Amino acid sequence: MGKLDGRVVLVTGAARGQGEQEVRLFRAEGAEVVVADVLDDRGKELADEVGALYVSLDVRREDDWRAAVRAAVDAYGRIDGLVNNAGILRFNTLVDTPLDEFMRIVEVNQLGCFLGIRTVAPVMSDGGTIVNTASYTGMTGMAGVGAYAATKHAVLGLTRVAALELARRGIRVNAMCPGAIDTAMSNPALLDPDVDGEAASRGLDRFYRKVVPLGRIGKPEEVARLALFLSCADSSYITGQPFVIDGGWLAGVSVG
Ligand code: NAD
Repeated sequence: MGKLDGRVVLVTGAARGQGEQEVRLFRAEGAEVVVADVLDDRGKELADEVGALYVSLDVRREDDWRAAVRAAVDAYGRIDGLVNNAGILRFNTLVDTPLDEFMRIVEVNQLGCFLGIRTVAPVMSDGGTIVNTASYTGMTGMAGVGAYAATKHAVLGLTRVAALELARRGIRVNAMCPGAIDTAMSNPALLDPDVDGEAASRGLDRFYRKVVPLGRIGKPEEVARLALFLSCADSSYITGQPFVIDGGWLAGVSVG
């Protein structure tokens, strides 16, 4: 028996990275999955491979959300789970961040999460689950990614309020706070066919050894396992909480 047998879960930003691994694991655990992204070719290919439904969904757009929910309900009759995973990262100090860059990050990371909750929760089955992907930078500061960190703090606020408002229907809402994870976001070399992605990953491991107690960058498959935990009955008494998955990075500093 799979941990998600009979459940229908929509994952945003699902064409690659953490979202892709969530799709693969959720399918393996018996869920019907709606793969949602703006990367249509890659998303369709993944959906075809694992037997899921692909929907083109820009999380900033209300119409796209409405169409995605309609497509999910038409195909599977219900929605039991949502993983708000889509996100973008830009590097800039606050004083150098152009307004349009700040707003774009807000639109994808924060507004996208809000629209997901607002559109999906009303049609979600009682007892459903929402998992919002925040970040290590939702729990603490990080110089050079101020706009991103602000949106990820906001995602935790949305998570807590949604948990309070939806609890009467048994809908649980939690957040994941990944540290550095080996996807295109942290390791753009993975997108470059001319670069050895594994060598780039080893380079990142060497870098993160200095700051992450477990001595390596995280894997998207590890985040997917946390998303599964928060989307299935194993977490049945947990709601409104952030879950840090960061190899110990946030635990503190070592002086030795
Ligand atoms: P990624 O860049 O591989 O994946 C992000 C996905 O979001 C892509 O498939 C992209 O097409 C999609 N996306 C971007 N804008 C979108 C939009 N407007 N509408 C719909 N989809 C959109 O990176 P990832 O690491 O898999 O990122 C997943 C989530 O994890 C993000 O929310 C990110 O902020 C968060 N996160 C990542 C890390 C990390 O180190 N990789 C750390 C902490 C949190």
